Amino acid sequence: MERVRSEQLYTEAKEHILGGVNSPSRAFKGVGGGTPVFMKRGSGAYFWDEDDNKYIDYLGAYGPIIAGHAHPAITKAIQTAAENGVLYGTPTKLENEFATKLKDAIPSLEKVRFVNSGTEAVMTTIRVARAYTGRDKIVKFAGCYHGHSDLVLVAAGSGPATLGTPDSAGVTKNIAKEVITVPFNDIDAYRETLEKWGTEIAAVLVEPIVGNFGMVEPAPGFLQQVNELTHEHGGLVIYDEVITAFRFMYGGAQDYLDVYPDMTALGKIIGGGLPIGAYGGRADIMEKVAPLGPAYQAGTMAGNPASMSAGIACLDVLAQEGVYEHLNNLGERLETGLLRLARKHHVKCTVNRVKGALTLYFGTETITNYDQADATNSEQFATFFKAMLDQGINLAPSKFEAWFLTIAHTEADIDQTLEAADLAFAEVAT
Ligand code: PLP
Repeated sequence: MERVRSEQLYTEAKEHILGGVNSPSRAFKGVGGGTPVFMKRGSGAYFWDEDDNKYIDYLGAYGPIIAGHAHPAITKAIQTAAENGVLYGTPTKLENEFATKLKDAIPSLEKVRFVNSGTEAVMTTIRVARAYTGRDKIVKFAGCYHGHSDLVLVAAGSGPATLGTPDSAGVTKNIAKEVITVPFNDIDAYRETLEKWGTEIAAVLVEPIVGNFGMVEPAPGFLQQVNELTHEHGGLVIYDEVITAFRFMYGGAQDYLDVYPDMTALGKIIGGGLPIGAYGGRADIMEKVAPLGPAYQAGTMAGNPASMSAGIACLDVLAQEGVYEHLNNLGERLETGLLRLARKHHVKCTVNRVKGALTLYFGTETITNYDQADATNSEQFATFFKAMLDQGINLAPSKFEAWFLTIAHTEADIDQTLEAADLAFAEVAT
């Protein structure tokens, strides 16, 4: 497959845009380097690049595009919003409509606020938790990504009950001291952490189903125990549902798993592809936020009519009968096919899948935490990724990302993907 235009555009991009990309995950660093593909059009489950090559897309823009590219109802909602003016700086009826929809779908959101990204949403939940509890420290789980605000760019210390170290230049040691990182699915490590720091911990930040070291489900009872232990010690539980909300059902992963946090951060899918974030939770906690309370949070673009309209339209699409069944059926077909082909080519693999989201891990049999995901075979993933791309299958360029199905994918798309995977596994095996 020729990608001459992408090569030219990437050379040009690197002259003007830092690193040639506006988000590091778009560079091909995670697959041993290469030229990112410059896409020019998306429709349904497909992309066309600047050289007019067609791809079946499983990136889904890192999650938001669950309805497929340029879904007609979402496109129409955005067009209508644009015609009416995209930004007012005043409240609008759309915000009420969307907030109500979110609350109906995710009942733990007694009050919500719209922001512009998942990063902002998570960052603000932490501030609000600190304002509510009067405490400073937070706990997060290793390998979970919660956006790029300072506090969550902190890696684990040397043991579960040690304080973190900065994961990015520019994050100060003092900030890192406020964060404790614990292995996911390790309730003993979490208990130990609370025994040591419990009276100082404002909140624990949890991806209820992890989406950032592949798809990893919580062990039975893990989230319930996290809730109990946290509350016993006077802290709050924050779910980062930026990836998971509306991914597995019309509602949050919390509704899917039937275990509920004090506060939730949202993003991605709820914007229908436009920039968005939202946070919410118990009314008594949310009342700490300005203008009612002392914790400040604001935004020029927050709740803008275009994002609200796209989000409402997207949720209306997802509320339709059969949507999640379709995603699950396709996911099952893809998982079964990938595992069959891996066996055929004697490539050791495992698939973690929740409904229409899955991750294929190389060189392993079980993934329940970040260390295991980190230890999977990066070279095999890179070979597989490139072989798939050259056959017109667009995956995320990182072994830690999920494949996201959209409602636009068909069984024929899955079968075509599996034909490509047959060759890709053959390359991995050589
Ligand atoms: N939280 C999770 C779980 C995410 O996966 C992401 C982004 O990938 C974020 C937060 C940050 O969201 P955004 O990129 O919209 O700032």
